[in-house]
Amino acid sequence: MNLRISIFACLILLTTISCQRNSTESAEGLIKIVATTGMVADAAQAIGGEYVVVESLMGPGVDPHLYKATHGDLKLLRNADVILYNGLHLEGKMAEVFEKMAQLPDKVIHPVAEFIPKAALKVVDPNGPTYDPHIWFDVVLWAAVYKEIGDLLSHSYPEHADYFKANVEGKQAELTVLDGWVQQEINSIPEAQRILITAHDAFEYFGAAYGIQVKGLQGISTLSEAGLRDVKELVDLIVDQQIKAVFVESSVPVRDINAVVKGCKEKGHEVAIGGTLFSDAMGEAGTEEGTYEGMVKSNVNTIVNALR
Ligand SMILES: [Zn+2]
Repeated sequence: MNLRISIFACLILLTTISCQRNSTESAEGLIKIVATTGMVADAAQAIGGEYVVVESLMGPGVDPHLYKATHGDLKLLRNADVILYNGLHLEGKMAEVFEKMAQLPDKVIHPVAEFIPKAALKVVDPNGPTYDPHIWFDVVLWAAVYKEIGDLLSHSYPEHADYFKANVEGKQAELTVLDGWVQQEINSIPEAQRILITAHDAFEYFGAAYGIQVKGLQGISTLSEAGLRDVKELVDLIVDQQIKAVFVESSVPVRDINAVVKGCKEKGHEVAIGGTLFSDAMGEAGTEEGTYEGMVKSNVNTIVNALR
């Protein structure tokens, strides 16, 4: 009896040891990627697949323009093999952190939007020049980021290059379909109603790609406070053009857009809040909006339902 118990105990112990070793080995073998926004993290996961473990610093509802790295973030960044961020000043308060990390040896650090050809970007200030960082709303432009991440990973980890390349091709085919779907849906809104009014100017690329006029209450970054003049301008536009709905954003406070709704009401025009758009942050992990494609679809459905 004692012998059987001992053998049983040994088996349990052996299983535990071998399981622990397996999990340690696999965790150690994976490429550790830390991304800033959920969109960049989602792209990295899609391309890196089984060879990577991806952490995103900015969760649902987090505004990247205002985000400051926490102590925990710095630790994650220091331990990462690859750091991916959007760049073009989207993560406006993290520039110093990226500079510091770039000085550490053996670390790949890459701003994905800064490698898009400048001719494809929207200029915000020609004197800088500075560019609009919100490139993920043009699905074709964002598809280029998947290719870039694939090339980057293939360069650093050539043993998995074929795998990364296949993932890039698969993902780009999916995004081509998504791009066509977005265009078809936006085309279904009557032309006079194709005006998208949001809390901040995140949707310029979206507007240019799919043919919808875009107006944001705040500028390209949420760092600037929306002034009274901005509210008045938008109210006049909405009343003049009899626009049916305006939109709030998951990562921007709702109070500014409420001021616009109130202003319209005072002028005798009822404008509805058409819903919440995911602008600079994706939805909760595990939900459809917690993926890049789900986020795009959710936004398009919200826009079309309110304006059509
Ligand atoms: Zn933004």
